[in-house]
Formats: sequence, structure tokens, C-alpha cells
Amino acid sequence: MQRSVGKIAVLGAGLMGHGIAQVASQVGGYEVSLLDVKQEFVDRGIEMVRGSLSKFVEKGKITQEEAESALSRITPTTDLGKALEGSKLVIEAASEEPNLKLDLYRKVTEAAPADAVIASNTSSISITLLASVTRHPESVCGMHFFNPPQLMPLVEVIKGKRTSEETVAFVREVSSKMGKETVLCKKDSPGFIVNRILVPALNEAVFLAQEGVADPADIDKAVKLGLNWPMGPLQLLDYVGLDTTYNITQVFMEEFQDSKYRPSPMLREMVRAGLLGRKSGKGFYEWGAPGSTKTK
Ligand code: NAD
Repeated sequence: MQRSVGKIAVLGAGLMGHGIAQVASQVGGYEVSLLDVKQEFVDRGIEMVRGSLSKFVEKGKITQEEAESALSRITPTTDLGKALEGSKLVIEAASEEPNLKLDLYRKVTEAAPADAVIASNTSSISITLLASVTRHPESVCGMHFFNPPQLMPLVEVIKGKRTSEETVAFVREVSSKMGKETVLCKKDSPGFIVNRILVPALNEAVFLAQEGVADPADIDKAVKLGLNWPMGPLQLLDYVGLDTTYNITQVFMEEFQDSKYRPSPMLREMVRAGLLGRKSGKGFYEWGAPGSTKTK
């Protein structure tokens, strides 16, 4: 590998960002900066890392010392300059809103080392678009993890229109050091591979609930037992976040200009009501405290 990674900066300490930071440290052995916009969000991210590491210890997957050492390599911050200092890889896992991300990329490209690779964990936003506001579009790439990043083995690597082969090779190599298998999306197409298939399926499950065809529990049971999914689509929606999924349908509508991707009105209404799933404590199911992995 030509480039050295130095430190990794993970931008966004939410559902995905905290998990990516954890994998980078725990499996990759990298020093990590974990950034969010408010101290309470960074604190929550670190708490989630701590909780997840404890589970690995309880299950005997890692030792207490390994957990402590993984946690000690993650430095929480709300200061973008500090997060980017010395980082040759920036993994962006901020909220799935195009304008928010574009603002962030304009700031990152000013403050990051000139040879840093900026990799986005976006589920649906164009890598080429994100790269267009940066000084080095050849160094911008998609690096799409799956939820939860601590457990899911795949990273989709997405080549934007101007992404260099060197950037792709670098991101694949770091992903592999983080214990992940990669697939290459040769074209920057909305939803890449997995979400292009998954999001319309989740949306269709909400249409079924909305139309009263079956109760949410039966929709989930049907798909689990009939398709051998490990969890049903509505439970998965609660895990992914209804807001994130809704935003993806909006991007699909805009990019493909095809009404087949329209979000179900029920999904939109639940998002407006703050019923976002696990992260808000309630979605299709009641969860314990926000972020809990158990339904009540
Ligand atoms: P989330 O809402 O849990 O977390 C997003 C975090 O980004 C929040 O804590 C928010 O405060 C923070 N943020 C917002 N603006 C920021 C900024 N300017 N700088 C730093 N942090 C900022 O969302 P999430 O589910 O973790 O999704 C994050 C990204 O990962 C999105 O692009 C999403 O599409 C993608 N993704 C999500 C999933 C999933 O299952 N939820 C899976 C794969 C990829």
C-alpha cells in the first residue's frame, strides 16, 4: 500500500459512526477520532461503543484488556480540526441529508490533510456529488458499511465518476484490515447494490401494514419464515431508522425520476411523528430506552 493511514477520523457518532469507529479500533487497531456536532451526541456514541465492547467480552470474543485498549484508541471530539489532524482516512457517517453532507465536505476538504481519502458511508447520496465540492474528487470514495458495523461482514466500495483506482484500492485494503469483505460498485448508482434491493422491499412492507393487509408482527413473521430473513422488514426498519430509510426513498425518487420508489404515506407520517424506531424508542415496535436492542 502506498499510503499510510495514520489516524482515522469518523464523522458522525450515531448508529453507524460509533460502530465504524469501534471496528476501526477493535479489529483494525487504528487510532480513531470520533466527531459529532454536540458533546452529548459524542458521549452517547462512546457509551454505545462501551456497551458493544462489553457484549463482546461477555461472549468471550475479546478480553477485558482488549476492550479497554480498543476504547482507549477512540478519541471523542466536537472539533472538526482536531478530528482531521493527522487523518489520512476520513470516514463520513453523518446524517443522510444531502445539504448537510455537502456543507460538511466543504469544511472537511479545507481542513483535512491534502492527501487524505474521504470515504462516505452514505446509503444513497451520489459519491460524485459529494466529491464535487472537494479539492480532490479523485480521493473521494464510497465506503458503505452495514448495520451493525461491528457484526456485518460487508463493505460496498463505490467508485465515483472521478475516484482514482488508488483510492479504491486503499479503501478496500483498510476495509480488509477492519475484517470486512468488500464488493466494488463500478458505477455510482443510487442505493449501490444492497439498498437498491432492500429499500423498496422495506417500503413495500410498510405499504402492506398501511393497507391493513396484515399486522406488522405477521408481516415480519411471514418474511422471516418464508424468506429466511434473520429479522422481518418492519423490525429491520426499526433497526435502520425510519428517517434514514425515508430519506433514501426521497433520493431514489429524485435520482431515478421514477415513482415506483415513492415512500409509503405511513412511513412519512411515522417519521413526522418522531417514531424513528430503535433510536427514538418507538417505531413499529416499542423498544426499551432509545438505542435498546430489545423490544418491550
Ligand atoms: P444517525 O442519525 O444515527 O447518526 C448520524 C449522526 O451524524 C448524528 O449523531 C448527527 O448528530 C451526526 N451529524 C450530523 N451532522 C454532522 C456533522 N456536520 N458532523 C458530524 N456529525 C454530524 O444516522 P446513521 O444511521 O448512523 O447514518 C449515518 C450515515 O450512515 C448515513 O449516511 C446513512 O445513510 C448511513 N448508513 C446507515 C445505515 C443504517 O442502518 N442506519 C446503514 C448503512 C449506512
